[in-house]
Amino acid sequence: MISALRKRFLKYLAASIIVAGMLVSAFACSGGREKIPVENEMNVLLITIDTLRADRLGCYGYEKPVSRMIDALAGRGVQFNDCASQSSVTPVSHASILTGQNPYRHGVRTLKGGEPYKLDRDHFTLATLLKGAGYETAAFISAMPLVAEKFGLDNGFDVYEQSFYEDVEFEQELQNVDSRRKQNPAQRRGDLTNELAIDWLRGREGGPFFLWVHYFDVHETYLVPPMIPGEFMYEIEKPLTDIHSQMYDVELRFVDLMIKNLVDELYRLGVGRDTLIVITSDHGQGIADHDYPYHTMKLYQEQIHVPLIFVGESIPSGLKLDGRVGSIDIAPTILDVLGYPKQGIPAGIEGRSLRPVWKEGARADGAPPPVYSETSYPKEIFGESPVFSVIEGDLKLIAYAESQSENELFDLSADPAELKNIISERPEKARELEKIIARLQDGTVLDVEPATDEDDKETRALLRSLGYLNK
Ligand SMILES: [Zn+2]
Repeated sequence: MISALRKRFLKYLAASIIVAGMLVSAFACSGGREKIPVENEMNVLLITIDTLRADRLGCYGYEKPVSRMIDALAGRGVQFNDCASQSSVTPVSHASILTGQNPYRHGVRTLKGGEPYKLDRDHFTLATLLKGAGYETAAFISAMPLVAEKFGLDNGFDVYEQSFYEDVEFEQELQNVDSRRKQNPAQRRGDLTNELAIDWLRGREGGPFFLWVHYFDVHETYLVPPMIPGEFMYEIEKPLTDIHSQMYDVELRFVDLMIKNLVDELYRLGVGRDTLIVITSDHGQGIADHDYPYHTMKLYQEQIHVPLIFVGESIPSGLKLDGRVGSIDIAPTILDVLGYPKQGIPAGIEGRSLRPVWKEGARADGAPPPVYSETSYPKEIFGESPVFSVIEGDLKLIAYAESQSENELFDLSADPAELKNIISERPEKARELEKIIARLQDGTVLDVEPATDEDDKETRALLRSLGYLNK
């Protein structure tokens, strides 16, 4: 059900995009033939590693060698040490990555998707903007929580590859649970996604491209990596005290190899030097923290602290930058690096370009804007309170909208693991941060109805097969 308020807001948003983004409208109406030229026409490879918390990468301080390729890429580029995703829910967070907007703005706010929480067909994305600049656009996704029908994230993509979801007999296939397979109706393994993406790259005839590759392997373990003698062997260490954590490492190492294969292919094809590579994640994973091993119910740092790395010819080498940034900054930063004309950037984008931060350092960063996140999943699935958070400087408020006595305030500098709730010591600061959340949401409402047994059975079965629907 769309609330009247939300409808009004969407109309306002649509109007402001049309008025403020005349150039965008111009090429949208021209069927994409009227090109908006960018100054620095590089290819863009956006890699999202689903469920990857930043602190499991070597370049973010992890002690095990499970991310050698990502670490090497970080060493060749700029790494943001403190990036927070805008949600712990896959489609919600990815919509923020692709639009540069917080969830209350782009409107994708649930895991189940469908109307009204699906991206509007005429809503801009990084893909619509780059397509308008003459780019060929393609996405290779690896899991059901991003499929076009439910979430609308295919806006602007010439190719949106999700054949694992489309080519199978659902009822029959879901019975066939076998972790050694390359795909099931809910997800596919990274090597298969890679094969398809590499085929697409090889089949191209030239011109700039925007390629988004999404890997789902480190998400809950239902498909496991193959063993490749001499290249990729793994063993679970004994005793099996923490198999979840050990498999997380194994699957991350596998994804790291997939990224190596993909980037090597760019160089084999002669386009590596001309490609801006961006590596990030949509959210983390609890594993052993806060007694919650998963991601969707919570917004602690293990759920929202994600890696963010930019690599390319015009990007400085080996910079690691502090300062709070968000996934909404990714799209504006890519557009800025490409020299996309400022007047063509939609007014509704909330993120900022991070290029001045690496060009001019802390002086450009000043007082960075607060970073917002949300999850409606507790409400959507269990009828519990949705959760919101905001980080301003080192202080972070986690607000439970319908059970405010549970609200938590943390000082991320003194207590990065969020073990000491200081809300009773700093109640005025907590109120200040609550007001920031309210101001940002600006009257938009989240009227998610809790799930019922009558809900789409296929969706529920698919979600269950991915490890959801458990608390
Ligand atoms: Zn995800």
